Amino acid sequence: MEEKNRSEKWRGEEANKFTRDELVNFLCERDPDENSLLYMEADRIRKMYMGDEVHIRGVIEFSNYCKRDCLYCGLRKSNDQIVRYRMGLEGIYRAAEEAKKLNFKTVVLQSGEDPHYSVEDLSPLIRIIRMNLNLAVTLSILERSFEEYRRFREAGADRYLLKFETCSPSLFKRLKPDSTYTERFRCLEWVQELGYQVGSGNIIGLPEQSLESLAEDILFFQKLNLDMVGIGSFIPHPNTPLKGTPSRGFGGHVQGHRFGQTCNAQCPYPCHHGRGHPSPPWGGRKPLLAGPM
Ligand code: SF4
Repeated sequence: MEEKNRSEKWRGEEANKFTRDELVNFLCERDPDENSLLYMEADRIRKMYMGDEVHIRGVIEFSNYCKRDCLYCGLRKSNDQIVRYRMGLEGIYRAAEEAKKLNFKTVVLQSGEDPHYSVEDLSPLIRIIRMNLNLAVTLSILERSFEEYRRFREAGADRYLLKFETCSPSLFKRLKPDSTYTERFRCLEWVQELGYQVGSGNIIGLPEQSLESLAEDILFFQKLNLDMVGIGSFIPHPNTPLKGTPSRGFGGHVQGHRFGQTCNAQCPYPCHHGRGHPSPPWGGRKPLLAGPM
């Protein structure tokens, strides 16, 4: 591709027409001038659609139990080194009250995949948070049945976060041996069908993740027509089978953020604590300047 065309294609609407191969080429880009153009474009798009305000979400991580055993995750059920906790329903409500006092507009109720909390527990809690506190409620509690999603929605839940993690079926199977790719995407379809605002996303830097599959992830963000995209970093956790496995590199990580933002212009890219990766040069503030809000 001509240099001129490449730079032009990074601009606005055109960015939606990238092919997978073009994305792979761009993700490999090492020319600092080219990278800096993309960097600025991602930040321009963020500014145009989201402005310079910081929207803060109050995340209540109410349980760190999980019934799954994903190879990369510290919450996996086989990790017996972690101190587990579960908050009671009243404690979760009190935390939401605190969020209200602190002027948050949204609370995110987040946990591992923990069947301890039934729909009968969570639906009244969602209802009372909506009614008494007038807070938007986002759920991030992983895979549930259609009926449960329906009842949470009926109780007033507004948004659902469910990452697909990787769109590569083989990588998904290897890293999430007791989950299925089909079920994960079925859940995403269900929450969209039920009218939730839906957030999803991936992990960058996974072992054996190819640039092709990273490019496919970015195309999937568009295809799924998401309301929010969350991009996480693979950071090897010491109490998992991937302990000591090097991440595939944070140059690619930040490139991924830039492209994610550039290709999905109107979709918010939240910046979360995971972005505070300690490793220079891509930890801390850098990803914030690559487009996410
Ligand atoms: S389902 Fe989510 S929380 Fe549970 S082990 Fe897998 S990645 Fe971790």
